[in-house]
Amino acid sequence: MEEVGTGLLDRLDAMQRVAASAPGGPLLIVAGPGTGKTRTLTHRIAYLCAELGIFPERCLAITFTRRAAEELRVRLSGLLGDAAEDITVGTFHAVGLTILAENAKAAGLSPGWRIADDAERDAVREQAGDDATAYGKLLRQRNLVDLDDLLTLPVAVLREDPALVQQYRDRWRWIFVDEYQDVDEVQYELLRLLSPADGNLCAIGDPDQAIYSFRGADVGYFLRFSQDFTDARLVRLTRNYRSSAPILAAAVQAIAPSSLVRGRRLDPARLDPEAPLVGRYRAGSAADEADFVVRTVDELVGGLSHRSLDSGRVDGRAVVPGAVSFSDIAVLYRTDAQSGPIVAALSRAGVPVQKRSHNRLRDHAGVQVLARELRHADGLGGSLAARVKLTAQVLAQRYAAPTLDAEQLAPEDIWAAADLLTPLAQRIGDDLPRLLQEIATGAEVDALDPRAEAVNLLTLHAAKGLEFPVVFLVGCEDGLLPLRWPGAAADAEQTAEERRLFFVGLTRAQDRLYVTHAARRFRHGSEREQAPTPFLDAIDAGLFERMGDTVPSRPRDRQLRLL
Ligand code: ATP
Ligand code: MG
Repeated sequence: MEEVGTGLLDRLDAMQRVAASAPGGPLLIVAGPGTGKTRTLTHRIAYLCAELGIFPERCLAITFTRRAAEELRVRLSGLLGDAAEDITVGTFHAVGLTILAENAKAAGLSPGWRIADDAERDAVREQAGDDATAYGKLLRQRNLVDLDDLLTLPVAVLREDPALVQQYRDRWRWIFVDEYQDVDEVQYELLRLLSPADGNLCAIGDPDQAIYSFRGADVGYFLRFSQDFTDARLVRLTRNYRSSAPILAAAVQAIAPSSLVRGRRLDPARLDPEAPLVGRYRAGSAADEADFVVRTVDELVGGLSHRSLDSGRVDGRAVVPGAVSFSDIAVLYRTDAQSGPIVAALSRAGVPVQKRSHNRLRDHAGVQVLARELRHADGLGGSLAARVKLTAQVLAQRYAAPTLDAEQLAPEDIWAAADLLTPLAQRIGDDLPRLLQEIATGAEVDALDPRAEAVNLLTLHAAKGLEFPVVFLVGCEDGLLPLRWPGAAADAEQTAEERRLFFVGLTRAQDRLYVTHAARRFRHGSEREQAPTPFLDAIDAGLFERMGDTVPSRPRDRQLRLL
Protein backbone atom coordinates (compact mmCIF):
# COMPACT_ATOMS: atom_id res chain seq x y z
CA MET A 1 0.00 0.00 0.00
CA GLU A 2 1.50 3.31 -1.05
CA GLU A 3 1.17 6.39 1.07
CA VAL A 4 0.79 9.70 -0.66
CA GLY A 5 3.43 12.36 -0.21
CA THR A 6 6.36 10.22 0.93
CA GLY A 7 8.21 11.22 -2.24
CA LEU A 8 11.53 9.49 -2.27
CA LEU A 9 10.22 6.52 -0.35
CA ASP A 10 7.39 5.72 -2.74
CA ARG A 11 9.32 2.90 -4.32
CA LEU A 12 9.77 1.05 -1.05
CA ASP A 13 7.43 -1.35 0.71
CA ALA A 14 6.20 -0.66 4.23
CA MET A 15 9.09 -2.28 6.11
CA GLN A 16 11.73 -0.94 3.75
CA ARG A 17 10.22 2.48 4.37
CA VAL A 18 10.40 2.02 8.14
CA ALA A 19 14.09 1.17 7.76
CA ALA A 20 14.82 4.00 5.34
CA SER A 21 13.10 6.66 7.41
CA ALA A 22 14.15 5.49 10.89
CA PRO A 23 15.45 8.32 13.08
CA GLY A 24 19.14 8.72 13.94
CA GLY A 25 20.95 6.48 16.40
CA PRO A 26 22.23 2.94 15.94
CA LEU A 27 20.15 1.00 13.44
CA LEU A 28 20.53 -2.64 12.48
CA ILE A 29 18.71 -3.87 9.41
CA VAL A 30 18.53 -7.65 9.33
CA ALA A 31 17.47 -8.55 5.85
CA GLY A 32 17.52 -11.81 3.94
CA PRO A 33 18.54 -12.24 0.32
CA GLY A 34 16.46 -10.42 -2.27
CA THR A 35 14.71 -8.22 0.27
CA GLY A 36 16.08 -5.03 -1.25
CA LYS A 37 19.02 -4.15 1.00
CA THR A 38 20.76 -1.98 -1.54
CA ARG A 39 17.52 -0.28 -2.46
CA THR A 40 16.75 0.42 1.18
CA LEU A 41 20.24 1.66 1.97
CA THR A 42 20.41 4.09 -0.94
CA HIS A 43 16.92 5.39 -0.24
CA ARG A 44 17.75 5.92 3.42
CA ILE A 45 20.79 8.01 2.54
CA ALA A 46 18.85 9.94 -0.09
CA TYR A 47 15.95 10.50 2.26
CA LEU A 48 18.18 11.80 5.05
CA CYS A 49 19.90 14.21 2.68
CA ALA A 50 16.99 15.34 0.54
CA GLU A 51 14.19 15.37 3.07
CA LEU A 52 15.82 15.84 6.46
CA GLY A 53 18.56 18.22 5.35
CA ILE A 54 21.51 16.10 6.42
CA PHE A 55 24.61 17.35 4.58
CA PRO A 56 25.86 14.71 2.12
CA GLU A 57 29.44 15.40 3.22
CA ARG A 58 28.46 14.17 6.71
CA CYS A 59 27.66 10.73 5.27
CA LEU A 60 30.05 7.80 4.97
CA ALA A 61 28.88 4.64 3.23
CA ILE A 62 31.13 1.60 3.51
CA THR A 63 30.95 -1.52 1.38
CA PHE A 64 33.14 -4.59 1.03
CA THR A 65 33.96 -4.57 -2.65
CA ARG A 66 34.71 -1.87 -5.16
CA ARG A 67 31.95 -3.15 -7.35
CA ALA A 68 29.44 -2.65 -4.55
CA ALA A 69 30.82 0.85 -3.87
CA GLU A 70 30.57 1.71 -7.54
CA GLU A 71 26.99 0.45 -7.65
CA LEU A 72 26.07 2.45 -4.55
CA ARG A 73 27.57 5.60 -6.07
CA VAL A 74 25.62 5.16 -9.28
CA ARG A 75 22.36 4.56 -7.48
CA LEU A 76 22.90 7.53 -5.14
CA SER A 77 23.52 9.87 -8.07
CA GLY A 78 20.32 8.56 -9.59
CA LEU A 79 18.43 9.59 -6.45
CA LEU A 80 20.29 12.73 -5.42
CA GLY A 81 21.97 14.04 -8.56
CA ASP A 82 25.18 16.02 -8.07
CA ALA A 83 24.73 16.18 -4.30
CA ALA A 84 25.66 12.48 -4.21
CA GLU A 85 29.24 13.39 -5.07
CA ASP A 86 29.76 14.83 -1.59
CA ILE A 87 28.95 11.52 0.07
CA THR A 88 32.02 9.46 0.95
CA VAL A 89 31.45 6.00 -0.51
CA GLY A 90 34.18 3.40 -0.33
CA THR A 91 35.49 0.08 0.83
CA PHE A 92 36.99 -0.27 4.31
CA HIS A 93 40.43 -0.12 2.74
CA ALA A 94 39.61 3.08 0.88
CA VAL A 95 38.33 4.71 4.08
CA GLY A 96 41.47 3.57 5.91
CA LEU A 97 43.61 4.99 3.13
CA THR A 98 41.85 8.35 3.36
CA ILE A 99 42.47 8.55 7.10
CA LEU A 100 46.05 7.38 6.73
CA ALA A 101 46.75 9.94 4.00
CA GLU A 102 45.50 12.68 6.31
CA ASN A 103 47.60 11.46 9.23
CA ALA A 104 50.64 9.95 7.61
CA LYS A 105 53.09 11.72 9.88
CA ALA A 106 51.38 10.53 13.05
CA ALA A 107 51.51 7.01 11.61
CA GLY A 108 55.27 7.30 11.24
CA LEU A 109 55.34 7.72 7.48
CA SER A 110 57.39 10.27 5.55
CA PRO A 111 56.22 12.20 2.50
CA GLY A 112 56.27 10.01 -0.59
CA TRP A 113 55.08 6.86 1.24
CA ARG A 114 53.08 4.43 -0.79
CA ILE A 115 51.58 0.95 -0.86
CA ALA A 116 54.17 -1.76 -1.51
CA ASP A 117 53.61 -3.99 -4.50
CA ASP A 118 53.79 -7.77 -4.14
CA ALA A 119 57.43 -8.07 -5.20
CA GLU A 120 58.47 -5.39 -2.69
CA ARG A 121 56.47 -7.09 -0.01
CA ASP A 122 58.01 -10.47 -0.78
CA ALA A 123 61.50 -8.98 -0.71
CA VAL A 124 60.87 -7.41 2.69
CA ARG A 125 59.36 -10.63 3.98
CA GLU A 126 62.37 -12.60 2.85
CA GLN A 127 64.75 -10.15 4.49
CA ALA A 128 62.76 -10.24 7.71
CA GLY A 129 62.96 -14.03 7.86
CA ASP A 130 61.08 -15.53 10.79
CA ASP A 131 61.05 -12.33 12.82
CA ALA A 132 57.38 -11.14 12.43
CA THR A 133 58.14 -7.62 13.97
CA ALA A 134 61.09 -7.11 11.60
CA TYR A 135 58.76 -7.21 8.58
CA GLY A 136 56.83 -4.13 9.73
CA LYS A 137 59.99 -2.25 10.65
CA LEU A 138 61.68 -2.96 7.34
CA LEU A 139 58.59 -1.96 5.42
CA ARG A 140 58.43 1.29 7.38
CA GLN A 141 62.15 1.95 6.80
CA ARG A 142 61.41 1.90 3.11
CA ASN A 143 58.46 4.20 3.65
CA LEU A 144 56.04 1.53 2.44
CA VAL A 145 52.80 0.19 3.82
CA ASP A 146 50.94 -3.02 3.04
CA LEU A 147 47.21 -3.61 2.74
CA ASP A 148 46.71 -4.57 6.36
CA ASP A 149 48.40 -1.31 7.34
CA LEU A 150 45.64 0.62 5.60
CA LEU A 151 43.41 -0.41 8.48
CA THR A 152 45.78 -1.10 11.37
CA LEU A 153 47.69 2.18 11.07
CA PRO A 154 44.62 4.45 11.15
CA VAL A 155 43.24 2.43 14.07
CA ALA A 156 46.54 2.82 15.94
CA VAL A 157 46.68 6.57 15.28
CA LEU A 158 43.06 7.11 16.28
CA ARG A 159 43.44 5.07 19.45
CA GLU A 160 46.14 7.46 20.65
CA ASP A 161 44.34 10.66 19.78
CA PRO A 162 40.83 11.30 21.15
CA ALA A 163 40.77 14.78 19.58
CA LEU A 164 41.36 13.24 16.16
CA VAL A 165 38.62 10.70 16.80
CA GLN A 166 36.25 13.56 17.55
CA GLN A 167 37.27 15.31 14.35
CA TYR A 168 36.28 12.29 12.27
CA ARG A 169 33.09 11.78 14.23
CA ASP A 170 32.18 15.38 13.41
CA ARG A 171 32.98 14.88 9.76
CA TRP A 172 31.07 11.65 9.30
CA ARG A 173 28.09 11.91 11.59
CA TRP A 174 26.14 9.34 9.55
CA ILE A 175 27.73 6.02 8.82
CA PHE A 176 26.26 3.19 6.76
CA VAL A 177 27.77 -0.26 6.44
CA ASP A 178 26.54 -2.81 3.94
CA GLU A 179 27.13 -6.58 4.41
CA TYR A 180 27.89 -6.03 8.08
CA GLN A 181 27.94 -9.80 8.65
CA ASP A 182 31.36 -9.90 6.98
CA VAL A 183 33.12 -7.38 9.23
CA ASP A 184 36.45 -8.50 10.68
CA GLU A 185 38.17 -7.44 13.88
CA VAL A 186 40.15 -4.45 12.63
CA GLN A 187 37.27 -3.15 10.52
CA TYR A 188 35.07 -3.42 13.55
CA GLU A 189 37.60 -1.52 15.63
CA LEU A 190 37.75 1.23 13.06
CA LEU A 191 33.97 1.50 13.12
CA ARG A 192 33.92 1.68 16.90
CA LEU A 193 36.36 4.58 16.71
CA LEU A 194 34.46 6.38 13.97
CA SER A 195 31.07 5.95 15.55
CA PRO A 196 30.20 6.65 19.19
CA ALA A 197 28.13 3.94 20.91
CA ASP A 198 25.01 6.06 20.40
CA GLY A 199 26.03 7.30 16.94
CA ASN A 200 24.08 7.29 13.71
CA LEU A 201 25.47 3.98 12.58
CA CYS A 202 23.29 2.02 10.21
CA ALA A 203 24.45 -1.56 9.64
CA ILE A 204 22.71 -3.77 7.15
CA GLY A 205 23.25 -7.41 6.37
CA ASP A 206 22.26 -11.04 6.66
CA PRO A 207 24.06 -13.32 9.14
CA ASP A 208 22.98 -16.32 7.06
CA GLN A 209 25.09 -15.00 4.19
CA ALA A 210 28.29 -14.72 6.22
CA ILE A 211 30.77 -16.56 4.00
CA TYR A 212 34.12 -14.95 4.67
CA SER A 213 35.25 -16.35 8.01
CA PHE A 214 38.27 -17.87 6.21
CA ARG A 215 39.38 -14.28 5.71
CA GLY A 216 38.90 -13.36 9.35
CA ALA A 217 35.33 -12.07 9.13
CA ASP A 218 33.30 -12.71 12.26
CA VAL A 219 29.53 -12.78 12.13
CA GLY A 220 29.63 -12.35 15.93
CA TYR A 221 29.94 -8.58 15.46
CA PHE A 222 26.63 -8.57 13.66
CA LEU A 223 24.96 -10.71 16.28
CA ARG A 224 26.05 -8.49 19.15
CA PHE A 225 25.28 -5.14 17.52
CA SER A 226 22.68 -4.22 20.11
CA GLN A 227 25.13 -4.89 22.94
CA ASP A 228 27.78 -2.72 21.32
CA PHE A 229 25.56 0.20 20.41
CA THR A 230 23.14 1.89 22.76
CA ASP A 231 19.41 1.60 22.19
CA ALA A 232 19.92 0.09 18.79
CA ARG A 233 16.82 -0.04 16.67
CA LEU A 234 16.20 -3.30 14.80
CA VAL A 235 14.32 -3.55 11.53
CA ARG A 236 13.77 -6.81 9.70
CA LEU A 237 13.06 -7.09 6.00
CA THR A 238 11.49 -10.41 5.12
CA ARG A 239 9.74 -9.82 1.83
CA ASN A 240 11.73 -11.35 -0.99
CA TYR A 241 11.28 -9.75 -4.41
CA ARG A 242 13.76 -11.88 -6.25
CA SER A 243 12.85 -15.54 -6.33
CA SER A 244 9.81 -17.58 -7.27
CA ALA A 245 7.98 -19.22 -4.36
CA PRO A 246 9.41 -22.77 -4.86
CA ILE A 247 12.97 -21.47 -5.10
CA LEU A 248 12.53 -19.38 -1.99
CA ALA A 249 10.94 -22.25 -0.06
CA ALA A 250 13.83 -24.54 -0.97
CA ALA A 251 16.37 -21.91 0.11
CA VAL A 252 14.69 -21.25 3.44
CA GLN A 253 14.53 -24.99 4.19
CA ALA A 254 18.16 -25.40 3.18
CA ILE A 255 19.45 -22.78 5.61
CA ALA A 256 17.13 -23.73 8.50
CA PRO A 257 19.46 -26.26 10.20
CA SER A 258 22.11 -23.62 10.78
CA SER A 259 20.29 -20.33 10.47
CA LEU A 260 21.74 -17.57 12.63
CA VAL A 261 18.58 -15.52 12.41
CA ARG A 262 16.00 -16.33 15.04
CA GLY A 263 12.69 -17.12 13.37
CA ARG A 264 14.22 -16.76 9.91
CA ARG A 265 11.49 -16.14 7.39
CA LEU A 266 11.34 -14.97 3.86
CA ASP A 267 7.99 -14.28 2.28
CA PRO A 268 7.74 -14.48 -1.49
CA ALA A 269 6.48 -11.30 -3.11
CA ARG A 270 6.16 -13.36 -6.29
CA LEU A 271 3.28 -15.80 -6.18
CA ASP A 272 3.06 -17.24 -9.66
CA PRO A 273 1.12 -20.53 -9.38
CA GLU A 274 2.82 -21.77 -12.55
CA ALA A 275 6.33 -21.29 -11.21
CA PRO A 276 8.47 -24.34 -12.02
CA LEU A 277 9.89 -26.51 -9.26
CA VAL A 278 13.60 -26.72 -8.57
CA GLY A 279 15.20 -28.95 -11.18
CA ARG A 280 17.43 -31.68 -9.76
CA TYR A 281 19.74 -33.71 -11.92
CA ARG A 282 21.92 -36.64 -10.93
CA ALA A 283 24.72 -36.92 -13.45
CA GLY A 284 26.99 -39.90 -13.99
CA SER A 285 30.09 -37.76 -14.23
CA ALA A 286 31.28 -34.18 -14.43
CA ALA A 287 31.14 -34.45 -18.23
CA ASP A 288 27.55 -35.66 -18.05
CA GLU A 289 26.73 -32.78 -15.71
CA ALA A 290 28.23 -30.32 -18.20
CA ASP A 291 26.15 -31.88 -21.00
CA PHE A 292 23.03 -31.44 -18.92
CA VAL A 293 23.83 -27.74 -18.52
CA VAL A 294 24.35 -27.40 -22.29
CA ARG A 295 21.13 -29.28 -23.13
CA THR A 296 19.10 -27.22 -20.71
CA VAL A 297 20.61 -23.93 -21.85
CA ASP A 298 19.72 -25.01 -25.38
CA GLU A 299 16.10 -25.71 -24.42
CA LEU A 300 15.74 -22.48 -22.45
CA VAL A 301 17.22 -20.25 -25.09
CA GLY A 302 15.03 -21.96 -27.61
CA GLY A 303 17.44 -23.64 -29.96
CA LEU A 304 20.89 -22.20 -29.94
CA SER A 305 20.89 -21.38 -33.62
CA HIS A 306 17.56 -19.53 -33.91
CA ARG A 307 16.98 -17.68 -30.71
CA SER A 308 15.35 -14.32 -30.27
CA LEU A 309 17.23 -12.12 -27.88
CA ASP A 310 14.92 -9.40 -26.74
CA SER A 311 11.41 -10.57 -27.36
CA GLY A 312 9.16 -11.60 -24.54
CA ARG A 313 11.05 -9.60 -21.94
CA VAL A 314 9.66 -7.06 -19.53
CA ASP A 315 11.93 -5.07 -17.28
CA GLY A 316 14.86 -7.28 -18.20
CA ARG A 317 13.00 -10.40 -17.10
CA ALA A 318 11.87 -13.16 -19.40
CA VAL A 319 8.10 -13.48 -19.22
CA VAL A 320 7.43 -16.14 -21.81
CA PRO A 321 9.14 -19.50 -22.10
CA GLY A 322 11.87 -19.50 -24.68
CA ALA A 323 12.63 -15.83 -24.09
CA VAL A 324 15.66 -16.57 -21.96
CA SER A 325 18.88 -15.12 -23.28
CA PHE A 326 22.41 -16.29 -22.49
CA SER A 327 23.09 -13.41 -20.13
CA ASP A 328 20.10 -14.44 -18.00
CA ILE A 329 21.88 -17.65 -17.12
CA ALA A 330 24.51 -18.27 -14.45
CA VAL A 331 26.39 -21.43 -13.60
CA LEU A 332 27.64 -21.37 -10.02
CA TYR A 333 30.22 -23.68 -8.48
CA ARG A 334 32.19 -24.05 -5.28
CA THR A 335 35.69 -24.24 -6.73
CA ASP A 336 37.15 -22.74 -9.84
CA ALA A 337 38.42 -26.16 -10.93
CA GLN A 338 34.83 -27.22 -11.65
CA SER A 339 34.42 -24.63 -14.37
CA GLY A 340 36.71 -26.43 -16.86
CA PRO A 341 34.34 -29.14 -18.19
CA ILE A 342 31.43 -26.68 -18.22
CA VAL A 343 33.28 -24.00 -20.16
CA ALA A 344 34.48 -26.67 -22.58
CA ALA A 345 31.03 -28.15 -23.15
CA LEU A 346 29.32 -24.78 -23.56
CA SER A 347 32.00 -23.53 -25.91
CA ARG A 348 31.79 -26.72 -27.99
CA ALA A 349 28.07 -26.05 -28.38
CA GLY A 350 28.80 -22.50 -29.50
CA VAL A 351 27.49 -20.85 -26.34
CA PRO A 352 29.37 -17.66 -25.42
CA VAL A 353 30.52 -17.63 -21.78
CA GLN A 354 32.01 -15.06 -19.44
CA LYS A 355 33.76 -16.14 -16.33
CA ARG A 356 34.26 -14.31 -13.14
CA SER A 357 36.40 -15.38 -10.25
CA HIS A 358 37.20 -13.08 -7.40
CA ASN A 359 40.76 -12.71 -8.56
CA ARG A 360 42.22 -9.35 -8.01
CA LEU A 361 44.01 -7.32 -10.60
CA ARG A 362 47.29 -7.46 -8.73
CA ASP A 363 47.20 -11.28 -8.74
CA HIS A 364 47.62 -11.23 -12.51
CA ALA A 365 51.16 -12.09 -13.53
CA GLY A 366 51.78 -9.19 -15.88
CA VAL A 367 50.09 -6.45 -13.88
CA GLN A 368 52.73 -6.11 -11.19
CA VAL A 369 55.52 -5.89 -13.73
CA LEU A 370 53.61 -3.41 -15.85
CA ALA A 371 52.73 -1.31 -12.78
CA ARG A 372 56.32 -1.09 -11.65
CA GLU A 373 57.49 -0.15 -15.12
CA LEU A 374 54.82 2.54 -15.29
CA ARG A 375 56.02 4.01 -12.02
CA HIS A 376 59.63 4.09 -13.15
CA ALA A 377 58.70 5.66 -16.45
CA ASP A 378 56.55 8.31 -14.83
CA GLY A 379 58.04 10.96 -17.15
CA LEU A 380 56.36 9.53 -20.26
CA GLY A 381 53.88 11.90 -21.83
CA GLY A 382 50.40 11.17 -23.10
CA SER A 383 47.28 9.91 -21.41
CA LEU A 384 47.50 7.19 -18.82
CA ALA A 385 45.92 4.69 -21.21
CA ALA A 386 48.49 5.62 -23.86
CA ARG A 387 51.29 5.18 -21.33
CA VAL A 388 49.97 1.73 -20.43
CA LYS A 389 50.11 0.81 -24.10
CA LEU A 390 53.59 2.22 -24.59
CA THR A 391 54.89 0.46 -21.50
CA ALA A 392 53.38 -2.81 -22.67
CA GLN A 393 55.09 -2.38 -26.04
CA VAL A 394 58.46 -1.81 -24.41
CA LEU A 395 58.05 -4.75 -22.04
CA ALA A 396 56.72 -7.13 -24.67
CA GLN A 397 59.63 -6.29 -26.94
CA ARG A 398 62.05 -6.83 -24.10
CA TYR A 399 60.52 -10.22 -23.28
CA ALA A 400 60.31 -11.38 -26.89
CA ALA A 401 63.91 -12.57 -26.51
CA PRO A 402 65.32 -14.35 -23.47
CA THR A 403 66.61 -11.91 -20.83
CA LEU A 404 68.31 -12.27 -17.48
CA ASP A 405 65.24 -10.73 -15.89
CA ALA A 406 64.04 -13.17 -13.24
CA GLU A 407 60.51 -11.97 -13.80
CA GLN A 408 60.54 -12.58 -17.54
CA LEU A 409 57.02 -13.20 -18.79
CA ALA A 410 55.67 -14.14 -22.17
CA PRO A 411 54.75 -11.06 -24.24
CA GLU A 412 51.16 -12.37 -24.23
CA ASP A 413 51.08 -11.99 -20.44
CA ILE A 414 52.12 -8.38 -20.82
CA TRP A 415 49.44 -7.68 -23.41
CA ALA A 416 46.82 -9.42 -21.29
CA ALA A 417 47.83 -7.18 -18.38
CA ALA A 418 47.60 -4.11 -20.60
CA ASP A 419 44.09 -5.15 -21.65
CA LEU A 420 43.08 -5.38 -18.01
CA LEU A 421 44.62 -2.04 -17.06
CA THR A 422 43.45 0.01 -20.03
CA PRO A 423 39.74 0.30 -19.11
CA LEU A 424 40.73 1.21 -15.55
CA ALA A 425 43.21 3.81 -16.82
CA GLN A 426 40.54 5.27 -19.09
CA ARG A 427 38.06 5.45 -16.27
CA ILE A 428 40.24 7.20 -13.71
CA GLY A 429 41.76 9.76 -16.08
CA ASP A 430 45.36 10.80 -15.80
CA ASP A 431 46.16 9.93 -12.23
CA LEU A 432 48.99 7.36 -12.12
CA PRO A 433 49.19 7.17 -8.31
CA ARG A 434 45.48 6.46 -8.28
CA LEU A 435 45.89 3.65 -10.81
CA LEU A 436 48.68 2.11 -8.74
CA GLN A 437 46.54 2.44 -5.64
CA GLU A 438 43.62 0.72 -7.36
CA ILE A 439 45.88 -2.18 -8.24
CA ALA A 440 47.38 -2.36 -4.77
CA THR A 441 44.08 -2.24 -2.92
CA GLY A 442 42.49 -5.01 -4.90
CA ALA A 443 40.52 -3.84 -7.91
CA GLU A 444 38.95 -6.91 -9.50
CA VAL A 445 40.15 -8.34 -12.76
CA ASP A 446 37.09 -9.49 -14.48
CA ALA A 447 33.98 -7.75 -13.32
CA LEU A 448 31.06 -9.23 -15.20
CA ASP A 449 29.67 -7.14 -17.96
CA PRO A 450 25.92 -7.35 -17.36
CA ARG A 451 25.23 -6.50 -21.00
CA ALA A 452 27.47 -9.15 -22.51
CA GLU A 453 25.36 -11.73 -24.32
CA ALA A 454 27.01 -14.68 -22.61
CA VAL A 455 26.32 -17.31 -19.98
CA ASN A 456 27.89 -16.26 -16.66
CA LEU A 457 30.21 -18.62 -14.81
CA LEU A 458 31.00 -17.75 -11.22
CA THR A 459 32.21 -19.19 -7.98
CA LEU A 460 29.65 -19.01 -5.18
CA HIS A 461 31.73 -16.38 -3.41
CA ALA A 462 31.81 -14.21 -6.51
CA ALA A 463 28.04 -14.57 -6.99
CA LYS A 464 27.19 -12.87 -3.73
CA GLY A 465 24.79 -9.96 -4.12
CA LEU A 466 23.96 -10.82 -7.76
CA GLU A 467 20.77 -12.22 -9.26
CA PHE A 468 19.99 -14.13 -12.45
CA PRO A 469 16.72 -15.42 -13.99
CA VAL A 470 18.26 -18.89 -14.44
CA VAL A 471 20.79 -20.46 -12.09
CA PHE A 472 22.56 -23.81 -12.27
CA LEU A 473 24.19 -24.75 -8.99
CA VAL A 474 26.52 -27.55 -10.03
CA GLY A 475 28.59 -30.00 -7.99
CA CYS A 476 26.13 -30.30 -5.09
CA GLU A 477 28.16 -33.17 -3.65
CA ASP A 478 29.43 -34.11 -0.25
CA GLY A 479 33.08 -33.09 -0.05
CA LEU A 480 32.67 -30.43 -2.70
CA LEU A 481 29.84 -28.43 -1.12
CA PRO A 482 30.56 -28.68 1.80
CA LEU A 483 34.13 -28.53 0.55
CA ARG A 484 36.41 -30.91 2.41
CA TRP A 485 39.79 -32.42 1.73
CA PRO A 486 39.35 -36.16 1.04
CA GLY A 487 39.59 -38.03 4.29
CA ALA A 488 39.37 -34.88 6.43
CA ALA A 489 36.91 -34.86 9.31
CA ALA A 490 33.91 -32.56 9.05
CA ASP A 491 34.19 -29.42 11.15
CA ALA A 492 30.83 -28.14 12.42
CA GLU A 493 31.68 -24.44 12.02
CA GLN A 494 33.05 -24.92 8.54
CA THR A 495 30.09 -27.01 7.52
CA ALA A 496 27.73 -24.29 8.71
CA GLU A 497 29.59 -21.73 6.63
CA GLU A 498 29.43 -24.04 3.60
CA ARG A 499 25.69 -24.35 4.13
CA ARG A 500 25.45 -20.56 4.11
CA LEU A 501 27.36 -20.61 0.83
CA PHE A 502 24.81 -23.11 -0.51
CA PHE A 503 22.07 -20.71 0.64
CA VAL A 504 23.77 -17.80 -1.14
CA GLY A 505 23.85 -19.91 -4.31
CA LEU A 506 20.19 -20.96 -4.20
CA THR A 507 19.02 -17.41 -3.53
CA ARG A 508 20.69 -15.95 -6.64
CA ALA A 509 17.93 -17.51 -8.79
CA GLN A 510 14.87 -15.58 -9.88
CA ASP A 511 12.80 -17.88 -12.10
CA ARG A 512 14.53 -21.20 -12.58
CA LEU A 513 16.96 -23.07 -10.43
CA TYR A 514 18.73 -26.34 -11.22
CA VAL A 515 20.85 -28.23 -8.74
CA THR A 516 23.10 -30.96 -10.08
CA HIS A 517 25.42 -33.57 -8.64
CA ALA A 518 27.62 -36.16 -10.27
CA ALA A 519 27.99 -39.77 -9.10
CA ARG A 520 31.68 -39.75 -9.97
CA ARG A 521 34.17 -36.96 -10.30
CA PHE A 522 37.88 -36.55 -10.77
CA ARG A 523 39.29 -34.91 -7.66
CA HIS A 524 42.81 -34.71 -6.35
CA GLY A 525 44.20 -36.94 -9.05
CA SER A 526 41.74 -39.81 -9.06
CA GLU A 527 38.16 -40.55 -9.92
CA ARG A 528 35.99 -40.75 -6.81
CA GLU A 529 32.50 -41.87 -6.02
CA GLN A 530 30.55 -38.83 -4.94
CA ALA A 531 27.41 -38.69 -2.78
CA PRO A 532 24.90 -35.84 -3.11
CA THR A 533 25.44 -33.10 -0.55
CA PRO A 534 23.54 -33.69 2.71
CA PHE A 535 22.40 -30.06 2.35
CA LEU A 536 19.85 -31.27 -0.19
CA ASP A 537 18.23 -33.50 2.44
CA ALA A 538 16.89 -30.44 4.25
CA ILE A 539 14.73 -29.59 1.24
CA ASP A 540 11.29 -31.11 0.80
CA ALA A 541 11.33 -33.68 -2.02
CA GLY A 542 8.09 -32.11 -3.29
CA LEU A 543 9.97 -28.95 -4.24
CA PHE A 544 12.14 -30.84 -6.72
CA GLU A 545 11.50 -31.96 -10.22
CA ARG A 546 13.82 -34.81 -11.20
CA MET A 547 15.39 -34.02 -14.53
CA GLY A 548 15.74 -37.26 -16.52
CA ASP A 549 18.31 -39.21 -14.53
CA THR A 550 20.78 -41.02 -16.70
CA VAL A 551 22.03 -44.53 -16.23
CA PRO A 552 25.41 -43.90 -14.58
CA SER A 553 27.99 -44.14 -17.32
CA ARG A 554 30.92 -46.50 -17.01
CA PRO A 555 34.07 -44.94 -15.63
CA ARG A 556 36.07 -43.57 -18.49
CA ASP A 557 39.11 -45.40 -19.69
CA ARG A 558 41.82 -43.56 -17.88
CA GLN A 559 44.59 -44.83 -20.11
CA LEU A 560 42.87 -43.44 -23.13
CA ARG A 561 42.52 -40.12 -21.36
CA LEU A 562 46.20 -40.01 -20.58
CA LEU A 563 47.14 -40.37 -24.24
P1 ATP B 1 21.25 -10.00 -1.39
O1 ATP B 1 21.23 -10.37 0.06
O2 ATP B 1 21.18 -11.21 -2.24
O3 ATP B 1 22.38 -9.09 -1.73
P2 ATP B 1 19.43 -7.73 -1.40
O4 ATP B 1 18.67 -7.70 -0.13
O5 ATP B 1 20.57 -6.80 -1.53
O6 ATP B 1 19.87 -9.24 -1.70
P3 ATP B 1 18.46 -6.51 -3.80
O7 ATP B 1 19.43 -7.04 -4.78
O8 ATP B 1 18.61 -5.10 -3.33
O9 ATP B 1 18.37 -7.50 -2.56
O10 ATP B 1 16.97 -6.68 -4.35
C1 ATP B 1 16.54 -7.89 -4.93
C2 ATP B 1 15.58 -7.63 -6.05
O11 ATP B 1 14.33 -7.17 -5.55
C3 ATP B 1 16.06 -6.57 -7.01
O12 ATP B 1 15.74 -6.98 -8.31
C4 ATP B 1 15.25 -5.34 -6.59
O13 ATP B 1 15.07 -4.44 -7.65
C5 ATP B 1 13.94 -5.96 -6.16
N1 ATP B 1 13.22 -5.13 -5.16
C6 ATP B 1 13.67 -4.74 -3.96
N2 ATP B 1 12.75 -4.00 -3.29
C7 ATP B 1 11.66 -3.94 -4.11
C8 ATP B 1 10.36 -3.32 -4.01
N3 ATP B 1 10.00 -2.63 -2.93
N4 ATP B 1 9.53 -3.47 -5.05
C9 ATP B 1 9.89 -4.18 -6.15
N5 ATP B 1 11.09 -4.77 -6.31
C10 ATP B 1 11.97 -4.66 -5.31
MG1 MG C 1 22.65 -6.97 -1.95
